[in-house]
Amino acid sequence: MDFKKYIRDVADFPRKGIVFKDITPLLQSNFALKSAADELLKFVGDQKVDKVVGMESRGFFFAPWLATQLNAGFVPVRKAGKLPFNKISQTYSLEYGEDTLEMHADGILKGEKVLIHDDVLATGGTSSAVCKLVEKLGGEIVQCNFLITLDFLKGDELIKEYPIKSLMHY
Ligand code: AMP
Repeated sequence: MDFKKYIRDVADFPRKGIVFKDITPLLQSNFALKSAADELLKFVGDQKVDKVVGMESRGFFFAPWLATQLNAGFVPVRKAGKLPFNKISQTYSLEYGEDTLEMHADGILKGEKVLIHDDVLATGGTSSAVCKLVEKLGGEIVQCNFLITLDFLKGDELIKEYPIKSLMHY
């Protein structure tokens, strides 16, 4: 199936010079939504997963669903200041700007198998920060799983020690 038909390029969003990959057409189509979710799940295969970690905010669309399918828990990673309890943090750089990500300190137990999911792998700054958060807590990353990879930004190089899967490549 041609998932790219459901991705809308929005020029100059959120800043001039950025071509934003808008996944809302994919989310709006029942067929594309279900098919994409199934493909993301197939990427994991029969690997054991204890926790699925999803990044604010577009990582939240699929990560909790993947967790229920994998009999795993869901752990949100959020921007600084949003999580209420004891947390760990990691600063990272984005395709547009710099920020800090946080995760609850009890989100992952030592030795747990972790699937990381986000909508887009761009420069890799976000995902590599999330991998660091997971490893600080002693989690073992089984896969980093994306809808879209922007190959020309070479984000995969920042997370090259982990298996990476992506439904679409640009
Ligand atoms: P990066 O840290 O550069 O890999 O950026 C990844 C994060 O930023 C993801 O959470 C994406 O949601 C978002 N992002 C970065 N670039 C784009 C883009 N061109 N289109 C849509 N989302 C993007």
